[in-house]
Amino acid sequence: MRQEVKSDHHHTALDRLFRYAEFLKFGEIHIKFDHATGLKAIIAIHNLKRGPAIGGCRLVHYATTDDAFEDALRLAYMMSLKASISNLPHGGAKAVLLLPSHDVKDRKAYMEAFAGFIQEMDGRFIAAVDSGTGTGDMNIIAAHTPYVTCYATANDSGDPSPYTALGVRRGIEAAVKAKLGKDHIEGIHVAIQGVGHAGYALAKELNALGAHLTLCDVNKPMLERCVSEFGATICPPEDIYDVKADVFAPCALGAILNLNTIKRLQVPIIAGSANNQLAHQHYSVVLHEHGILYAPDFVINSGGLIFAAAMYDHADPVKARTQVSGLYQTLTTIFNRSQAENRSTHEIAEIMALEGLR
Ligand code: NAD
Repeated sequence: MRQEVKSDHHHTALDRLFRYAEFLKFGEIHIKFDHATGLKAIIAIHNLKRGPAIGGCRLVHYATTDDAFEDALRLAYMMSLKASISNLPHGGAKAVLLLPSHDVKDRKAYMEAFAGFIQEMDGRFIAAVDSGTGTGDMNIIAAHTPYVTCYATANDSGDPSPYTALGVRRGIEAAVKAKLGKDHIEGIHVAIQGVGHAGYALAKELNALGAHLTLCDVNKPMLERCVSEFGATICPPEDIYDVKADVFAPCALGAILNLNTIKRLQVPIIAGSANNQLAHQHYSVVLHEHGILYAPDFVINSGGLIFAAAMYDHADPVKARTQVSGLYQTLTTIFNRSQAENRSTHEIAEIMALEGLR
């Protein structure tokens, strides 16, 4: 017994990191420390086969540096899948910025130091917004390196959320057609968890098409806004899994689909914007066996990445919207294959995305 424990200790955090990187078929992992600004950053580039890798820049607090590395690798891998399934000329990457416990003192200097790090990647990494960063940060970065997207211009706010919401709405329409046989979402009841950037924009899309909404959030003013704008019903955050509806749309947190929550769900469809909705990949099989149609997160929420890529590549925004709208067809193909092959939608989507990375 002692022997086993001792041998396990021989695997350092770096050993585990490299093993995980090998498992996900990385790629490059870069780290930067800037003493003056307190910047501690990781850039993980998963795959460059399709083109320069785009990745959101996440600025959040991590309990340990190991957690930050693992998050960077997992998220960069997912970005590769997203770019591939959306047929973009880009690879997947992620930047993780470890939020100092005292917060960032001088945001501008911090982002400028980070811009220098991005520039060192020489165009293999293109920075975009993610949790903890915003378009204002991308504007600071854009003053120092061209390898950035999602910054505000005279014609565009740089916010990918409306495109993400459009894609999720199209995904909901595809799921409603596949599961309920309906061609429109008028009268369809959607329970949305989280009405932040993506959730609010989704609520707006759905309300305009006559869907009935039940919403939850921990942000009361946001909820009040949705009640007055959409006449939505509100429920406490802890009750959202029990709402009897046609669609559950997770738009707040990751890892919310676990055995406990799946047991409680009273919906035939799960389709929302949140990243990493499955607490474990195997739960996609559990959902499949329960007859719940799950729209794989990295497919249905890829509208934001399509926007980010279009902005970077100076593509026509109208074409980008058409491409986001096309997620309806992509998801329909995934739903059909899932049924024909009796495999979960997540497995099918991953197989399809990996085909595009070979
Ligand atoms: P956001 O921070 O603007 O919104 C998240 C919302 O969730 C906030 O309003 C917050 O108050 C709420 N929330 C937090 N804890 C909650 C809880 N326990 N119950 C209910 N609500 C809670 O973030 P966002 O940009 O809207 O992104 C939401 C999700 O979608 C994230 O998982 C993100 O990674 C994913 N996503 C977003 C985009 C995009 O374009 N915004 C693109 C792809 C994926």
